[in-house]
Amino acid sequence: MALIDDYDMELSTPECDLESSIYRATVRLHADISDVLPFVNATVEKAEYIAGVPVLVWSEGAHRYALRADEIAVSNISDRGEATRIVQELVSRINSIWERRDQIEPSYASYERPKVLDVLKLLPRTNCGQCGMPACMAFADAVIREKKLLADCAPLCGEECAGQLAALREMGL
Ligand code: SF4
Repeated sequence: MALIDDYDMELSTPECDLESSIYRATVRLHADISDVLPFVNATVEKAEYIAGVPVLVWSEGAHRYALRADEIAVSNISDRGEATRIVQELVSRINSIWERRDQIEPSYASYERPKVLDVLKLLPRTNCGQCGMPACMAFADAVIREKKLLADCAPLCGEECAGQLAALREMGL
């Protein structure tokens, strides 16, 4: 029998913006999926994992995913059709990972996001605005949140900044 074979899904708007047309899908599970989290963690990139809660959070494409013992949440959903498709795909993926768990080395590691000031120190710090952000500080924050790419900072891609760019890449950005 599949780990997840039944669930209820609901859509909600962010509490800070009840008029929003972007939704969050919350899936209530009828099973405890705590044990699969380290195996899912081993298959995704830059996931934040807290075993004691437990919770596993990561981003893929435009969405942010959170798995808890009896709940799945997916952010940045445009409508119920998209929510249904994404949740079905995720449930299928989790079930597949669970079935193959004897072939997967579980990961109990948690990705640690770089600090804004550590990223800022390695940027050109001219506040030129070429990246579309008002200042390098805002760009640093956006890169950490995966809203911008290092490549969006044209001055950083110049030869004179090669060392800084390499250091930022080493931080996993
Ligand atoms: S393009 Fe680079 S240097 Fe210019 S504001 Fe953006 S982060 Fe700063």
